[in-house]
Amino acid sequence: MKTTSFYPGPSRVYSKVPKYFREGYKAGILSANHRSEEFMTLAKETKSLLGDKLNVPEGYQILFTSSATECWEIFGQSLADGTTQHFFNGAFGQKWATVNEKLVRKTKKSQFPFNAKLPTDKIDQNASWICLTHCETSNGTFISNSVIEEIFRTKSKDQLIAVDATSTMGGLQIDFGLADFWFASVQKCFGLPAGLGLLIVSEKAIAKAEEIGERNHYNSLLTILDNAVKHQTHFTPNVAAIYLLNRVLKDRENIAVTDQLVYSRFISWNKVPDEIDFLRWLVEDEALRSPTVLALECQRPDALKSLAEKSGFILGNGYGEWKESSVRIANYPAIKNKEVRKMMKFLLEYSSSLDAEV
Ligand SMILES: *Cc1c(COP(=O)(O)O)cnc(C)c1O
Repeated sequence: MKTTSFYPGPSRVYSKVPKYFREGYKAGILSANHRSEEFMTLAKETKSLLGDKLNVPEGYQILFTSSATECWEIFGQSLADGTTQHFFNGAFGQKWATVNEKLVRKTKKSQFPFNAKLPTDKIDQNASWICLTHCETSNGTFISNSVIEEIFRTKSKDQLIAVDATSTMGGLQIDFGLADFWFASVQKCFGLPAGLGLLIVSEKAIAKAEEIGERNHYNSLLTILDNAVKHQTHFTPNVAAIYLLNRVLKDRENIAVTDQLVYSRFISWNKVPDEIDFLRWLVEDEALRSPTVLALECQRPDALKSLAEKSGFILGNGYGEWKESSVRIANYPAIKNKEVRKMMKFLLEYSSSLDAEV
């Protein structure tokens, strides 16, 4: 039986991935040198597809990295001057702040409760950067576009914004113009195997990198940019992943359409815990829940997960302090509607079997 992974990353990959991989093999692109004309054409076309499909504004540069984690480090090495302020309410945002702290001493950690809105009144006007985690994948919370807009309006003119959009980019419509440093990796909303990171930077972020002038690392932002001008990369990249990204992007509609699909499923998911006694939203306020990663409290998550696996679904473990009391479910675009319906049906049946036990 085929299993569908609802794990919030790595997650279900597009069904066409094996076909495209084979076609890449036949076309010779999987063994192409990353300084070759062939690779440069692929890189250039893939960046342009990303720009078009995700509505990335003019002036922003799209860069290939190896992972979102690498982007945390690129940020700290090449862009973090003065104090950087990190708002977080869960494990990923906290890790980023910690990585930054080791590289840059002046890291201001602004932790806030996971069931409350990000406190925009706590923005430190003296910080050079404000760092956000768009969807905190560990607990399914989300910073809505309206909150990002509010941060954009509240900050002072010279302050820049960096956003970890690992579990939203490619799934939700992002207003890239509101921030300067956005990054993600492809094993979440892009429906691909892991091993490629995407970094999108504004002109202001590039100007900041030039002002700082840091070139001490293989992945210093300036080195990455020097290579990107030639449609090359700072290391031998995951050419196969770039090729697969290119192919799946061609199949995709504009992000506005994907955003609607993700939101409409999220609306149906929102009703599920009302009908199922043993499941409760970890995040009470609907406005704070991410449409892409659902975190649900339940008793005995291990029993649920193992039964789910027998029925052909992989559910995500709870994360950190919620490990023993919750499950996470990805609502990423590559998961098919019929798989979502089957999963909901499974949960309903599981729930009635529990009722019967009592
Ligand atoms: C998955 C994830 C990461 C790490 O991604 P890698 O590809 O493993 O580097 C970072 N931040 C968030 C919010 C994530 O969901």
